Amino acid sequence: MADIIKLLPDHVANQIAAGEVVQRPASVVKELLENAIDAGATTIKLIIKEGGKILIQVVDDGMGMSATDARLSFERHATSKIQKAEDLFNLNTKGFRGEALASIAAIAHVEMQTRPESEELGTHIKIEGSKIVFQEASVTPKGTSMAVKNLFFNIPARRNFLKSNQVELRHITDEFHRVALAHPSIAFHFYNNGNELFNLPSDNYRKRIVNIFGSRTNQKLVPVEEETPIVKIKGFITKPEFAKKSRGEQFFFINNRFIKSPYLHHAVVAAFEGLIKSDSYPGYFLYLEVDPSSIDINIHPTKTEVKFDDEHSLYAILRSTVKHSLGQFNVAPALDFEHDPNLQTPYEFKDKSAVPPKVTVDAGFNPFQETKSPSPSPASRSYQKQSSGNWESLYVGLESKMGTDDEPGSISFESDTITGSIFEGEKETTEAVTTTFQIRRKYIVTTIKSGMVVIDQSRAHQRVLYEKFLKNSTVKQGVSQQLLFPLHLSFSKSEINALKEIQDILVSIGFIFENIEGESITVTGVPLLVAESEVGMILDQLISDYQQEVTDDSFSHTDILSKTLAKTLAVKTGETLDNASQIALVNDLFACKESMVSPFNKPVYITITENDIDKKFI
Ligand code: ADP
Ligand code: MG
Repeated sequence: MADIIKLLPDHVANQIAAGEVVQRPASVVKELLENAIDAGATTIKLIIKEGGKILIQVVDDGMGMSATDARLSFERHATSKIQKAEDLFNLNTKGFRGEALASIAAIAHVEMQTRPESEELGTHIKIEGSKIVFQEASVTPKGTSMAVKNLFFNIPARRNFLKSNQVELRHITDEFHRVALAHPSIAFHFYNNGNELFNLPSDNYRKRIVNIFGSRTNQKLVPVEEETPIVKIKGFITKPEFAKKSRGEQFFFINNRFIKSPYLHHAVVAAFEGLIKSDSYPGYFLYLEVDPSSIDINIHPTKTEVKFDDEHSLYAILRSTVKHSLGQFNVAPALDFEHDPNLQTPYEFKDKSAVPPKVTVDAGFNPFQETKSPSPSPASRSYQKQSSGNWESLYVGLESKMGTDDEPGSISFESDTITGSIFEGEKETTEAVTTTFQIRRKYIVTTIKSGMVVIDQSRAHQRVLYEKFLKNSTVKQGVSQQLLFPLHLSFSKSEINALKEIQDILVSIGFIFENIEGESITVTGVPLLVAESEVGMILDQLISDYQQEVTDDSFSHTDILSKTLAKTLAVKTGETLDNASQIALVNDLFACKESMVSPFNKPVYITITENDIDKKFI
C-alpha cells in the first residue's frame, strides 16, 4: 500500500491552530494586549472599528523587534519567551506558546510596524492569510503597532458566525477590563469607531478599578490583604449590600493574569455566606500571587483556567481572608436583607452628612391589638396604585373569561355562575370577587366552580407585570410618570454604553432620559409602577442583566428587560396584600395570556378540586 500520510503545509496548520486561539475579535485583542505587556510597554492604545471586524489595532511603546524578529514572530512556535521545557515552570510572561501571531496572520490582514529603541529604522510588514505581501524598512516610533484587519476574511463560515458589532464590542470590553485591571501601572487608551471609551492613567489598583467601573464604585470596595507562604492575596471585595443578582464584577488574577476558577469563586461566596441572599453574588477584585512553579496554566490554549498544586489550602486561606476583611471593616453585622427600598438613600444624598433622627411616637398605638395589615410595603402599594387606576380591569378580566371555560388552564369563578349578574352593579361585582384571602403572606386563595385555586402572589404579579411591559414595549413611548425633580444618577462608562444600547427599549417601557453623557444620566420620567427611590437600583439591575445576556435580537432584549422589571417590581412573598389588591391581582392574572406560568416558567397557581378535598375526608 502506498504511503498516504503527509505533513500539513504551514499555512494550513496555522489556520487550524487559529481555530483554537481566535474565536472572535476579543481573542485577538487579548493576544495583542498581552504581547504589548510582555514587551514592557508603559502606555498601550487599543483601537477598534466595527466591533473588531474591520480593525483591531494595538499600539505599544515596548521593546519592539529587530527586522529578523519581526519576520520570525509570525512563524508558528516562534517565541522569545521560553527556550527550554523547564522555562514552562517559571513563567513570568503572558505568552509562551508562540502561536498567536502565526494564527492571527493566517486568518486576517495583518500590518505591523515595529522598532527597538536601539535602532534608527524600524520594520513594516504586511501579511495576508499567512502570505507576506511586503517587508520594508520604515520610520516608526519606538515600540510596536499591530493592526489586524478583516478578521476571518478567508473563513466565511467563521465571519458569518460573528455577532453584532455591539455584542463583539462587549466581549472586547470584557477582555480589556481584565487586562487593564491586572496592570494598573500601565496606561491604557481604548478607542471605538473614533470615540474614546477609556482613558486610564497609570495608577494604583483601587483607582484603576474606580476608573473603569465609575466613581461610585469607590464606596463599595473593602480592601483584602493577606500574606502566607503559599499565597499572597491583595485586592478588594464589594460590601455585601452591593451584591448583585447577576454575576458581574468578579475578577481573579493569579500572578497578574486573569483566571476563571469556579473553585476559588466558591471560596469567596462561602465567606459571604449569611451576609448576602443565596441568589446574589458578591463582587470582587482579587489578586493572588503564588510561586509560578506551583501552578500550571498550560491546560487550556486560551489560558483562563489554571491548575494549582495545593488547591485546598488556597481555598481555605482565601475564604478566611475574605471573612476577616468583612469582619474587620465592620461591614458584616449592619445588614438587613428585607430592606425597604424606600429607605435606601438616593445616590446624591449618600455623601451628605447625617441629620439627627427625629422620633415620632404613635400615641394611639395599642400593643394588644392584632395588626391587620402592617404598613404596606412599596411593592404592594404600587400594586394598589395600578389596580385602583383601572378598577374597570376587574370587569375586563372576568369578561374575557366568560365563555372560555373549556380552554385549558382557564378558570371560571364560582361567583360567575352563581350570580350570573356580576356586571350589573358595582356593589355586586366587588362582592362577587371578594372571596379571596391570603395565607402566610404568600398565597392567595379563591374559590372556583370546581373547588379552589391557590395562587403564588409573587409569581402571579410577575406574570401580570411582565405581560404589561411586553405590551407597552410595542408602542413607541410607554406610559410614564414625570418626576418632580429629575434624578441624576452616575454609572460607569461601560454601563452608560449599555444603557445607550437599551435606551429605546427602556423608553418604550416608560423611562424618560435626558443628558446621557460621561458617567452620568438624568432621568426625568419613570414607568408608572416604579417608585422614585427604586430607580437607581432598577436601572442597575436592568443594565447588569442586559450585560450578562449576550444576545443580538431586540426582541430578546425587551423580553429580558421586561422580566427583570417584573421580577423587581412584583409583590414579594411576605408582603401583606389588602383585599382590594388581592382581588385585582387575581383578576389581572386570569386576564393574562399565559396565566399558568410565571415569566420564569414556574407554576403560578394550583387548583384543588372538590374531589381532591373529598378524598382527604375518606
Ligand atoms: P508568544 O507571545 O506566545 O511568544 P506570539 O505569537 O504572541 O507568541 O508572539 C511571538 C513573538 O513575537 C513574541 O515571543 C515576541 O518576541 C514577539 N512580539 C509579539 N508582539 C510583540 C510586541 N508588541 N512587542 C515586541 N515583541 C513582540
Ligand atoms: Mg503572545
